[in-house]
Amino acid sequence: MRYISTRDNSLQHTASQAIVRGLAEDGGLLTPFYIPKLPGKALEDLKAMAYQQRAVYIMKMFLEEFSIKELTDFANAAYGPEKFDSPAVAPVHTVDGNTHCLELWHGPTCAFKDMALQMLPHLLTASLVKTEEEKTVCILVATSGDTGKGALEGFKNVPRTKILVFYPKDGVSQVQELQMVTQEGNNVGVAAVVGNFDDAQTGVKKLFSNEKVRRDLERKGYFFSSANSINWGRVLPQIVYYISAYCDLLRDEKIEPGQSVNVCVPTGNFGNILAAYYAREMGLPIDQLICASNSNNVLTDFIREGVYDRNRKFYNTMSPSMDILISSNLERLLYSLTQDPAEVRHYMARLNEVGRYQVSGKVKDKLQKRFKGYFCDDRETQRVIREMYDRHGYLIDTHTAVAFSALEQYRSETGDNTPAIVASTASPFKFCGSVLEALGESQIAEGLDALDQLTAKTGQPAPAPLAGLRNKRVRFTQVVEKGHMADAVMSLLE
Ligand SMILES: *Cc1c(COP(=O)(O)O)cnc(C)c1O
Repeated sequence: MRYISTRDNSLQHTASQAIVRGLAEDGGLLTPFYIPKLPGKALEDLKAMAYQQRAVYIMKMFLEEFSIKELTDFANAAYGPEKFDSPAVAPVHTVDGNTHCLELWHGPTCAFKDMALQMLPHLLTASLVKTEEEKTVCILVATSGDTGKGALEGFKNVPRTKILVFYPKDGVSQVQELQMVTQEGNNVGVAAVVGNFDDAQTGVKKLFSNEKVRRDLERKGYFFSSANSINWGRVLPQIVYYISAYCDLLRDEKIEPGQSVNVCVPTGNFGNILAAYYAREMGLPIDQLICASNSNNVLTDFIREGVYDRNRKFYNTMSPSMDILISSNLERLLYSLTQDPAEVRHYMARLNEVGRYQVSGKVKDKLQKRFKGYFCDDRETQRVIREMYDRHGYLIDTHTAVAFSALEQYRSETGDNTPAIVASTASPFKFCGSVLEALGESQIAEGLDALDQLTAKTGQPAPAPLAGLRNKRVRFTQVVEKGHMADAVMSLLE
């Protein structure tokens, strides 16, 4: 299968080239030329398999150059019991008869980024060999919190890789920051950027296209790549868990073969929900894709009005991993809906020049047929956390709560009670402060003591990787202005 740029489909690459590059040479996103269809009895077959085998089966459909043996080794290493604290890897928790929560945070950093970032280093190092690349890959990450830690943990000590993470100084939770600045490994670097996530992301994008930085790097034997969700190696492993969740529901006889489900995803960069869209394109019986946002509701407006407009107030919310105004992966959806690279190029140029574009009537119709957009503010987020805990004894984090709010709004507006899969993207212990407040605590303990407070309140233990932070040494303290990220790269590579 070939991978093309969303902005020019004469730019073509193999899967391994796409994974090594991260981004197309024209700034577009590398995307499969077509989405393969699941064979007729695939779901029946997958139903009986473990998560790792499901991952091999699905990923192989997109990665012809990789053997079953290779992919099996990758899946066993990425999703094994040393990494995930649930044998199901991504278990489905049924909240009530037709509401199912897909828990994507059982990995080493307690957020859904692990689902892809435990797999990506295996795909990338094998791709370096397949493409005969001899330089060391320097992975640059801009993070709203969870990607950074996920990437650091996935790539630490992986030969022939360096990983540098930039996070917004005041845009991440205390636990998230501690997770990153205490990162172990001989090939890792972390710096805080003065600004918000978009500043960090824009800074990283500029580094990628900075010719001088590129040349300096090359002289040192490095080249840049990306572990942000624009890399195809990030999106692909995410398709697996939607198909897996459906198979679990089939296996447990919670749905009938062929029955449609809706999927609701708390969304930031549009990577996670895009994976659900691709699962649907492959033939998974998904009816509606419900896109949940916080007060940074640029996607809600886009879905409702067909106008993407990033010129708006930016909010720091209690669901910081969704505090994003430029959803990079939306470009892949635009390509899928238009099948026209020139049209995508036009929209992206508008976004770049004036921060706003309006899609054609045809694209808007297609978009609205498949996607529904809802958002909620912090107060509603906390109401949902409390209600979920009081009614069902089920503890959820702030991002997951935004998704449950969106589902509730969708159901009451449409009366559609189709079984729904809600993506749960982080452990509630990652966002202790907000969760404790939601549960009615007025005094929140500082730093890691909040973990104990949440345990005392709910009787649930904190995940081991978070509890273990207490004994870790802070290794990284650098804070950079957004204009000085190139210097930071050079100093971290010394
Ligand atoms: C990254 C993240 C999101 C947003 O996912 P996208 O793929 O960027 O849309 C939501 N919740 C959590 C906890 C995250 O870490």
